[in-house]
Amino acid sequence: MNEKREKLTEQALPEPAGAMTDSERERYSRQTLFAPIGEAGQARLLRSRVAIVGMGALGTVLANHMVRAGVGFVRLIDRDFVEMSNLQRQMLYDEADAAASSPKAEAAAARLKAANAGVQIEPVVADLNAGNSEQLLSGVDLILDGSDNFAVRFLVNDVSVKLGIPWIYGGAVSSRGVSLTVVPGETPCLRCIFDQPPAQGTTETCDTAGVIGPIIHTVASHQAAEALKLLVGDRDRLNRKMQHWDLWYNQHAAVDVSKARKPDCPCCGRRQFDYLTAMADGDTIQSLCGRNSVQIQPVQPSRLALDEWAERWRSLGRIERNPFLLKLHLGSGQTLVLFPDGRMIVQGTDDPVTAKSLYSRYVGM
Ligand SMILES: [Zn+2]
Repeated sequence: MNEKREKLTEQALPEPAGAMTDSERERYSRQTLFAPIGEAGQARLLRSRVAIVGMGALGTVLANHMVRAGVGFVRLIDRDFVEMSNLQRQMLYDEADAAASSPKAEAAAARLKAANAGVQIEPVVADLNAGNSEQLLSGVDLILDGSDNFAVRFLVNDVSVKLGIPWIYGGAVSSRGVSLTVVPGETPCLRCIFDQPPAQGTTETCDTAGVIGPIIHTVASHQAAEALKLLVGDRDRLNRKMQHWDLWYNQHAAVDVSKARKPDCPCCGRRQFDYLTAMADGDTIQSLCGRNSVQIQPVQPSRLALDEWAERWRSLGRIERNPFLLKLHLGSGQTLVLFPDGRMIVQGTDDPVTAKSLYSRYVGM
């Protein structure tokens, strides 16, 4: 909540609590003129809290819409940093972000604060996993999916159903996209529709099949419209169908899933949150499909002083450093990217064993 509004309500209450300031009225005038939102809807948006999972292509469009629309609090969660190959479709980043290897969550937050200083934006540079998801996705009214993989979506689905927070699934690859709005207790959840995530390597990804920018905006704009309906409380207008688009081959399908809710669904029926309770019994090592990279997430997060590590690694290869991560370019062709919580992305291999041994050798845990 911005200072001006707080002051207004603290003083002689010239307007009902939650009313907008003059500058908010001006800023959001075109949106409040839209009758289904109106001033009452705008006031609800200003009090709303949203978490966005993944700040890649979908996430940047989603965050842009949420922040500009005046959603009061937006948490941006992403584990990655900006690379040149992102710029074709990840609309909040530029060449300077790629050159500096800026973490996406931080770069996006900086860009969005310039677009709307009245919104509280919380960047979180982290890998969403079973250990931290309940904490990172709680305290919000809505979760938006900007992730690029099903393991994360099934985890988000578990948290959504457990905490009773709606979420909006979105996915895009090649020229195709899909979206589904999940309201716990009302609509089918992701597990009602898909029993389990597809096996790793069996689906196309943006890194193997490519993706065109326009499908990102189609999917994310659909998600954002659903988000606005949910946040202003116009639930009757929610899209109860699973949407599919192919912008290149001119196809659109809306599949009725209103009867797809399963009483014996492990998640929303039996409330058995398999993805959330899957306790890691060791470090999580994950090949980042199509990127020739492996991520290692230690089971116990640590607090590393990156400056000390930069000193320690100085003789081993070329070092790059920004406030959020440290890179070591090894002569063998791999690059180690170390984050302060002990997480590492090993670039230049898709072999988890190689990555783990590099981690042990250079970080030693
Ligand atoms: Zn279900």
